[in-house]
Parts: sequence; structure tokens; C-alpha cells
Amino acid sequence: MDIISDPDDMQGRARQWRSHGLKVVLVPTMGFFHPGHRSLMEYGRTIGERLVVSLFVNPAQFGPQEDLERYPRDLDRDVRLARDAGVDCLYTLGAGAMYPPGYQTYVEVESLSQGLCGASRPGHFKGVATVVLKLLNQVSPHVAVFGEKDYQQLMVIRRMAADLDLDTEIVGRPIVREPDGLAMSSRNTYLSPEERAAALCLYRALLAARELVASGARSRENILAAVGQIINAAPGTRIDYVALVDPTTLQEVEAIRGEARLLLAVWLNQTRLIDNTLLSESLLCCV
Ligand code: AMP
Repeated sequence: MDIISDPDDMQGRARQWRSHGLKVVLVPTMGFFHPGHRSLMEYGRTIGERLVVSLFVNPAQFGPQEDLERYPRDLDRDVRLARDAGVDCLYTLGAGAMYPPGYQTYVEVESLSQGLCGASRPGHFKGVATVVLKLLNQVSPHVAVFGEKDYQQLMVIRRMAADLDLDTEIVGRPIVREPDGLAMSSRNTYLSPEERAAALCLYRALLAARELVASGARSRENILAAVGQIINAAPGTRIDYVALVDPTTLQEVEAIRGEARLLLAVWLNQTRLIDNTLLSESLLCCV
């Protein structure tokens, strides 16, 4: 596995691959790999001939009061895990290489970025869209793979790719969970044992919503009431948002017609966790 840490070197390598007709896949990450990242890498491996994983903790997507400084990092471990997963190139660079002095260009995906996580993290998706566009320009992948765990992010990037005529297919992959159902996340390392136990309320709330829908419930009011009750009953929780939205536009829906997405963001003391699930009128089983 190659490790590249300079955008010009990355572009040069990508150009070589393309000139040999090789199909290039990119998995963008902020590192501290877990099985959710691994699932994206394994999928990337199956669909492409060259797999690049980028590892960049992007300052532009963190607010001033957020966890940029304490975000978990372990490059040696990530190098080992990437190698094990069959990654061809780990592309890891520092903030100064991504945003050199004088940098001043940003991308904004307007309305999709405003609600939900965008409301509690102003500027977050501007940082995400900007860095993803830069990574796509540096790696020129045929396909870029993202997790549905960050569902709003996936929709923002899809919209950006369509609006800016990008020549990369954006693929979303399912959420990977711990055996007890907690969605895997690098931020789970922040949780104390008590918070870790309480964090299960997110998954329980999603399951309860799916069961309600499977048994015929359709209205936003009923579903959100059940979800809110489960989360509020867990110790140390504070709901940031619970939303039932159209799966593409992310606009709130009053009832499930066809498909909707249930999105959650919940604080566990100082740690904010997100999760989501598809709710469909044809739903008969569990998450
Ligand atoms: P991150 O390193 O947290 O920025 O995540 C990098 C990529 O991995 C993003 O596309 C995430 O959506 C995806 N990802 C993170 N956690 C999971 C998970 N539990 N299951 C599937 N994909 C995930």
C-alpha cells in the first residue's frame, strides 16, 4: 500500500491509473477506522481496480466549540487496518496541504445544508462539501463511497455532484452497527460505560419506529412521539433533533407515503451521536 500526503503526487498517481484505464474508487474518511469504514473499503475493493482511502480530519467542518482537537487519531493503527483491507493508497494530508495560505474558495449546497445537522452545526456542510470536492479533484475517482450513517452528508454530496456536473458516481452504503445495535462511530470512544449503555436508546428508538410503521402507523406525530419518549427515558440524553423527512429533499413530511427517513441527533452529556433509518410503507421487518 502506498501512502501519499501531497495533493500533486495524488493527482499524478490518479492520472497514471486513469491513463491505464483502471477504475478508481475513493473512500473519504477522517480516520480512526472501525468496521463501518472497513465495510466501505471492502465494497470499494469489489467495484474498483484501484482503491484510495483518504484520511483527513477536516478543520473546515468543525465549529469553533467542537471536538477538532480531541477528535481520535491513530495513524499507525489506521495504516495497518487499511493495508489489511486491501487499500492501494492511503491518502493522508495535513490541514496546511489541503488549505495552503491564501486559501479562500468554498462550496455551499444551499437548502440541503440548512436544517438538521446544519442547524446545530452552522458551516459544517460547507466544510464537508468543500473538502469532498477537493478530494474528488485530487483523486479523480470513478466512484466515491459514503456511509448512510451520515445521511444528510450523503444527500449534500449527491446534490453537489449533480449540480456541479461531477464525473464521479456517489454511492451510499448501509450503516454498520455494534452487535447490540449502536451505530459504529469514531466518536463512540468518547462515551463512558454509562453513556455507552444509554446510547442504545437511539437504536431502540429507530427499531420502535420501524415496528410502529410495520404495524400500520403512518403519521409523523405518532412516530416522533414514540421516538422522543424512548430517548428522553434514557439517562443523560438531550435530543438535538428527531425528524421524519423525505429521503431525497430532507424536507419534513407529515406522514409516510412511500418512503421516508427518520433522522436522529442526540446528545449524551458532551457527546453528540447521530443515527437514522429508512421507514417505508412496505416495511414488515426490523432494522
Ligand atoms: P468519518 O471518518 O466518520 O468521517 O466517516 C467516513 C465515512 O464512513 C463516511 O462516509 C461515513 O458515513 C462512513 N461511516 C461512518 N460510520 C459508519 C457506519 N457505522 N456504517 C457505515 N458507514 C459509516
